[in-house]
Amino acid sequence: MQTALVLGAGGFIGSHLVKQLKHEGYHVIGVDLKHPEFSSTAADDFIVGDLREQKFCNELFAKLKVDELYQLASDMGGAGYIFTGDNDARVMHNSAQINLNVAEMCVKHKIGKVFYSSSACIYPTFNQENPDSPLCEEKSAYPALPDSEYGWEKLFSERLYLTYARIHGLQVRIARYHNIFGPEGAWKGGKEKAPAALCRKVAEAKDGGQIEVWGDGSQTRSFLYIDECVEGTRRLMQSNFAGPVNIGSEEMISINNLAEMIIAISGKNLSIKNIEGPTGVRGRNSDNRLIREKLNWEPNYPLQKGIEQTYRWIKQQWSDLGQTP
Ligand code: NAD
Repeated sequence: MQTALVLGAGGFIGSHLVKQLKHEGYHVIGVDLKHPEFSSTAADDFIVGDLREQKFCNELFAKLKVDELYQLASDMGGAGYIFTGDNDARVMHNSAQINLNVAEMCVKHKIGKVFYSSSACIYPTFNQENPDSPLCEEKSAYPALPDSEYGWEKLFSERLYLTYARIHGLQVRIARYHNIFGPEGAWKGGKEKAPAALCRKVAEAKDGGQIEVWGDGSQTRSFLYIDECVEGTRRLMQSNFAGPVNIGSEEMISINNLAEMIIAISGKNLSIKNIEGPTGVRGRNSDNRLIREKLNWEPNYPLQKGIEQTYRWIKQQWSDLGQTP
């Protein structure tokens, strides 16, 4: 039986990935600062600890024999967390510290294969100024100018793992995730992303009321449903391609249209009020040419379906707290 170690297994993507790995027959060990928030972990063993701490990492890796490692642990959140600037020092320090420790451990303990979750946030601002035609082709990452310190740290850590691959022979696979969403993702508290935040606002609103949307609403993004993120991750890991490669949807939508979609799903009559808020770049979309070429696969689950499932889940979470619109 193969053993997979999932770092960040208490988070959104990590907890879903653990379920999939278990489903495929892996022995799975999860590590995180905390247990998953919305369901119990599917991991065989779940270790609570801080990957910023060298001592914890040394002890953790010394007692494990790992075939595949998935590095998803990071200090991250939606626009309200990474674009305000307030959390920048902590985001850079925490995530870089984790990756420096993990890369070193992978070499020292001869981990077979290592997956690293990078982000679309590494792409340069100057290619994402037009909301209708953003450029996020993998090779456009350089010359670099990410729109956030979060993006700079991701770019640094991509380079860290690629350098360890070149110098130490580490087998790495790097994905640049584009806005992953779905049930069991953060939906309140400040780390939630646009789809979850908008679903919550719509669930909370009284019929005939209004919801607030950050920015002028014409900024564009694409959103990838969690199941396809996990599938893409597994396919990349099983391939011979190191990446970096986009794992995202090409179904681009403006934020106001996304809000309209959620309002229509709710069946409520709501209006949108655009207010000032952190928004990031004007446009962003996945470019799936490379993943099609290298993996002969790309995501194709319709946004509408994923949003329907996510809205239903968030509405339920909200009413479980005893709330009514
Ligand atoms: P998440 O915040 O739900 O999960 C990250 C997990 O890392 C959290 O559970 C957190 O507790 C854990 N963690 C943070 N610091 C830690 C530490 N010092 N030691 C141990 N664990 C620690 O985020 P997610 O959405 O599941 O994202 C997973 C990865 O994918 C992250 O690296 C993120 O940057 C990347 N990513 C996500 C998206 C997205 O849209 N969700 C997009 C691009 C990239």
